[in-house]
Amino acid sequence: MAAVIGDPVSHSLSPVIHNAAFEAAGLDWVFVALPVATGDAPVAVSGARALGVEGLSVTMPHKAAVIPALDGLSSVAAELGAVNCIHRDPGDRGRWLGHNTDGEGFLAGLRSDLALEPAGLHVVVLGAGGAARAVVRALGAAGARVTVAARRPDAAAGAAALGGPAAGVVPADGLAAAVAGASLVVNATPVGMAGHPGVPMDPALLGPGHAVVDLVYHPLDTELLGAARARGAATSNGLSMLVHQAAAAFTRWTGDAAPLPAMERAARSAVG
Ligand code: NAP
Repeated sequence: MAAVIGDPVSHSLSPVIHNAAFEAAGLDWVFVALPVATGDAPVAVSGARALGVEGLSVTMPHKAAVIPALDGLSSVAAELGAVNCIHRDPGDRGRWLGHNTDGEGFLAGLRSDLALEPAGLHVVVLGAGGAARAVVRALGAAGARVTVAARRPDAAAGAAALGGPAAGVVPADGLAAAVAGASLVVNATPVGMAGHPGVPMDPALLGPGHAVVDLVYHPLDTELLGAARARGAATSNGLSMLVHQAAAAFTRWTGDAAPLPAMERAARSAVG
């Protein structure tokens, strides 16, 4: 058994994606969504461990709160201060480790959807929350030069600090210049998702020299992506990151390569 803990968690696509993966891989596993109230994450992790659960996904609001209940963290999770995947230590299966698969999921999606290698890319990341921080860290570690545009300067600086020495913050009036100098723009704000209509930036700043990744996956095609395509930019939605971060968790739990096509089909049909 594996599970996702969060609050709320009933909307999570993780059960659909992971159960499809277990079935495609021929594993007699099941994945369930477990609502866990704020403050209860450490006791929920201990309980899951006592019950013999093999792995946990962790979503809001527990990504930092689970850390004290774990035996160790990957360097990625430690840097981000956020865990989205708990797995057994392959060298000592009694130990539970925390990791964060969002950044590797983002990079895998970039490569598979847009055939982009991050090294040397100039990237503007819109937003400075949990997803932005994971993306900035992964891009910086892979050799991209990242600038962060967010409405709170302190949050932007905090995210940029994860992106290595070349990373920086876009000044309040500097978005046009930053986008003009970038080849990739990533929307890591909720603007454009169902219930948050609109665009997170002026699409007139985009052109054929740009690729745009919108981390939003509900809907799959946001207003930003449509406008970017109309101006000749290459685009990719949030489904790839979602599926690839789940694939990374699957591999940590089971030790097997993830059946990506089955996971992507399940996610696409659930979102659709
Ligand atoms: P979060 O931690 O709440 O961060 C959201 C960020 O967007 C913050 O910097 C926030 O600024 C900013 N923001 C919110 N509303 C805004 C607005 N109207 N205008 C400008 N900036 C705004 O959220 P998150 O977990 O990072 O998620 C962000 C998005 O990524 C969501 O749409 C989520 O669904 C998506 N996501 C996708 C995946 C995937 O696998 N595809 C994974 C994770 C997240 P303030 O701090 O000032 O509010």
